[in-house]
Amino acid sequence: MKNVIAFITLFGLATAQWGLAQDKFVEDIIETPAGDLKLTFIGHGTLMFTFGSQTIYVDPVPRVADYTRLPKADLILVTHEHGDHFNSETIHSISTDHTNLVYTETCARQVSGGSVLHNGEIKTIGGRRIEAIPAYNLVHMRAKGQPYHAKGVGNGYVITFGGRRVYVAGDTENTPEMKNLQGIDIAFLPMNLPYTMTPEMVADAVKAFRPKILYPYHFGDTDTSRLLKLLEGEKGIEVRMRPMP
Ligand code: ZN
Ligand code: ZN
Repeated sequence: MKNVIAFITLFGLATAQWGLAQDKFVEDIIETPAGDLKLTFIGHGTLMFTFGSQTIYVDPVPRVADYTRLPKADLILVTHEHGDHFNSETIHSISTDHTNLVYTETCARQVSGGSVLHNGEIKTIGGRRIEAIPAYNLVHMRAKGQPYHAKGVGNGYVITFGGRRVYVAGDTENTPEMKNLQGIDIAFLPMNLPYTMTPEMVADAVKAFRPKILYPYHFGDTDTSRLLKLLEGEKGIEVRMRPMP
């Protein structure tokens, strides 16, 4: 009997903790000509989009959420194989028979059944247009000549929802491909150092491709106020800070 009570107490505590974490997700609604797009800020590099009856995850990993409390996926996009972006167990746990999985070659070596998108490829998957944008380092290196993210491996994605173009950059710097993007309504850009961009790099990219709304994400403990200052007075670009460290 004692054991049963101990179990209930532990279980109750664990549930309460997860419950707290889940209740804290911040959401934004974006209006599109085809209905509302809901953005759920799960944490770090993990996002959930809800559009009509569809649930789309980007980089779902276990450390930011208890997925048993979240909807199953219609579409999962994975930017690259690093542990803060890719987890095979999480992918399995949110997948059903009709879930589409889009990922890189490095992820396909670990989980089968998805569609590999190479840098620059555009595919329509589950009725949704998805473009793979190269994600890589130009400056920040693990060691001399060894970037944290080598060119050709990782993807960012431009996903279209009712004509609105949403760019989730993945782990990258302010590459020429990013700066040449056209017609981006919403951009998620990473600022976690030393793996991705400094606030100066983010500001440089944003001034080039001019998304209507910028969400810094995957920013770790980088000083986000620095970015706000750099983009102060920049007309037509709204910077929205959300809890995505
Ligand atoms: Zn990475
Ligand atoms: Zn990362």
